[in-house]
Amino acid sequence: MSKIISGKIVSAEVRESLKKETEALIESAGIHPGLAVILVGNDPASQVYVRNKQLACEELGFHAFEYKLSENTTQEQLLDLINILNKDKKVHGILVQLPLPDHLDEKSVLYSITPEKDVDAFHPLNVGKIMIGNYDVLPCTPAGVMEMIDWAGIEISGKKCVVVGRSNIVGKPMAMLLLQRSGTVTICHSKTKNLKEVCADADILVVAIGKPKFVTADMVKEGAVVIDVGINRDENNKLCGDVDYENVEPKASFITPVPGGVGPMTITMLMKNTLHAAKLQNGIKD
Ligand code: NDP
Repeated sequence: MSKIISGKIVSAEVRESLKKETEALIESAGIHPGLAVILVGNDPASQVYVRNKQLACEELGFHAFEYKLSENTTQEQLLDLINILNKDKKVHGILVQLPLPDHLDEKSVLYSITPEKDVDAFHPLNVGKIMIGNYDVLPCTPAGVMEMIDWAGIEISGKKCVVVGRSNIVGKPMAMLLLQRSGTVTICHSKTKNLKEVCADADILVVAIGKPKFVTADMVKEGAVVIDVGINRDENNKLCGDVDYENVEPKASFITPVPGGVGPMTITMLMKNTLHAAKLQNGIKD
């Protein structure tokens, strides 16, 4: 087996099985999973992300409901739309594309999505459920990382796991998922002392900081598993991760590339959450 864990390959396999599950759900129960995506404003990167989500819906046979709102949309208008979608039985997942324009209060917008339809798993109820290990949906990026680790047959139990980055959407939930699988988890951040030594002790190193090629070969133990969540541009404007891939790869037992690593998993896990939400909202248990 290659030491490179390709997000493209893992993602394609997961999508294949989601597609079959969706076909079975439509045939047996007449339920089409439905995802509503709300985009406020004209941010070009956000437009690409929204388009990719729509394409993923088409690929898997989901209904995609797209709401492109003007830059001037008020908080009240946005909350009204979410309120309508919360009650719409054809919509099983609601996603508000971030970032929102500055005049909108991101937190109250995200928290207004009913937890059952919160397929990003940002709502405090879903965050709390992850903490106690009794969750319905997982945040997409950490869930994608777990899928890749499992795909490669990597054992987590008892391993020293180091997560660099403590954001609410990646680092913190990532650490919780590794802990639930009995990893011995250390979370690092910008105030961590001896970061190099802490990283160099890791059996499984997950990096999500947003600093191009920050993790160098001397920060990685021989034979470590290295998961690079970062998406950055290097000095030549080329996409790169948080890990100095070229120099770290020879030391790693497994490594994820950028691009083509964790990135492709994220939308796939969003689809997985939406399918799961559609089942739960119709009383179907996996
Ligand atoms: P945030 O900016 O929200 O968080 C970055 C974290 O990294 C913070 O906890 C920060 O510490 C820590 N950090 C920053 N600099 C250092 C440093 N020098 N040493 C140690 N820790 C440091 O980022 P996100 O979690 O949202 O994203 C991280 C990266 O992952 C980005 O490149 C982003 O583009 C990418 N990403 C990729 C996704 C994918 O689909 N593959 C999805 C989401 C994100 P502190 O808390 O102390 O400030």
